[in-house]
Amino acid sequence: MNKPLDPKVAETDRIPFQKPQPWGMAPDMVVHDVLTDDERLWAPVAPGIWSRPLHLNVTGGFYVHLLKVQRSGLLQRHRHSGQVHAYVIRGKWLYLEHGWVAEEGSYVFEPPGETHTLVVPDDCTDMITMFTVHGALMYVDPQGVSTGYDDVFTRIDKYRAHFESVGLGGDYVRRFMR
Ligand code: FE
Repeated sequence: MNKPLDPKVAETDRIPFQKPQPWGMAPDMVVHDVLTDDERLWAPVAPGIWSRPLHLNVTGGFYVHLLKVQRSGLLQRHRHSGQVHAYVIRGKWLYLEHGWVAEEGSYVFEPPGETHTLVVPDDCTDMITMFTVHGALMYVDPQGVSTGYDDVFTRIDKYRAHFESVGLGGDYVRRFMR
């Protein structure tokens, strides 16, 4: 048996913080049912590839999204200007540039400056990974010559257009923005 807590401590432990949150603080956010089957919330990226926004941060210049790939194959080669954190929720993928495979339950850190090419292997046709992407992805040719880019602002434009097209309205994207 545990010793009962000091009754005074136990009493105060359950009292919520009594002061106001700091002035100017951004509102909190909770996104329920992140793996939702509601197709309207998954913006198409390419055939068999979708992205579901969770957090689009315009002052920090980063975004958190779920990448869903329901086919095997390659995703565009790109270079990162900022750090990336990934958590594999379903399926698996690898980079042509590395010897490892990120599998269900894996966490991956992609350092700023890295260039890589994502591949979903042939025996996987259902992949979902949560990516937190800081800065920009610069799409590049095999020699590193830039062919385009994506960042939180290009993502917001694409989500807005998608939400508009499925009847949710372009402003639906605002709920994910901070
Ligand atoms: Fe990447």
